[in-house]
Amino acid sequence: MKTIGLIGGMSWESTVLYYQTINREVGRRLGGLHSAPLNLVSLDFQAIADKQTAGDWAGMAGVLSQAATRLEQGGADCVLIGTNTMHRVAPEVQSAIGIPLLHIADVTADAIERAGLSEVGLMGTRFTMEQSFYVDRLAARGIRCVIPSPPERTLVHNIIFEELCRGSFRDDSRAALVNVLASLQARGAQGVVLGCTELPLLLRPADCPLPSFDTTELHALAAVDFCLG
Ligand code: GLU
Repeated sequence: MKTIGLIGGMSWESTVLYYQTINREVGRRLGGLHSAPLNLVSLDFQAIADKQTAGDWAGMAGVLSQAATRLEQGGADCVLIGTNTMHRVAPEVQSAIGIPLLHIADVTADAIERAGLSEVGLMGTRFTMEQSFYVDRLAARGIRCVIPSPPERTLVHNIIFEELCRGSFRDDSRAALVNVLASLQARGAQGVVLGCTELPLLLRPADCPLPSFDTTELHALAAVDFCLG
């Protein structure tokens, strides 16, 4: 088995999901007491969130590149950045290391392609929905993103940072997100990318009126493929 390197803590609520999904899947595929060889560098999310608010992407690229280097030096064979938003600095992180970075948008695009869809809603942080790094990466694969309206983006962003990243999971917030999904569907979305690694903690496939792409699970399963491949 190869060793998975995970940069986590953004937030740790979703890092738990990664750790659980990866180990359960390795156990499921190999049986017995098997689990995944995994190195984790878990960051203090407040420091990252402050840099996000300040727009200090160069600073974040430095912090994540350092984390990735620590993973590589510790014997990891690949690196995962356990958040969609921080893939904004994925090119800088990849160029700092000699092992592959498994990109969350690429594994999501693979799943959308497998489902035969070409137009999907994108729900995530303001950075992921409004900047080009994610939408362009999917567009390069022939997938068009439908982005929530400005008030909907504020709602989704605030639920992520004020609630999900703090371990608060509320029925009224789930209902509000389902309304956003319905409006994305009305605007042509054939499916929805849960493009924030905490969203699956609140929204399960049964809550979604259209096919959903759980980026946390897809990314974690891609790591398992790499580990056992
Ligand atoms: N985990 C989230 C994501 O997937 C949000 C936290 C962050 O800003 O990194 O984008």
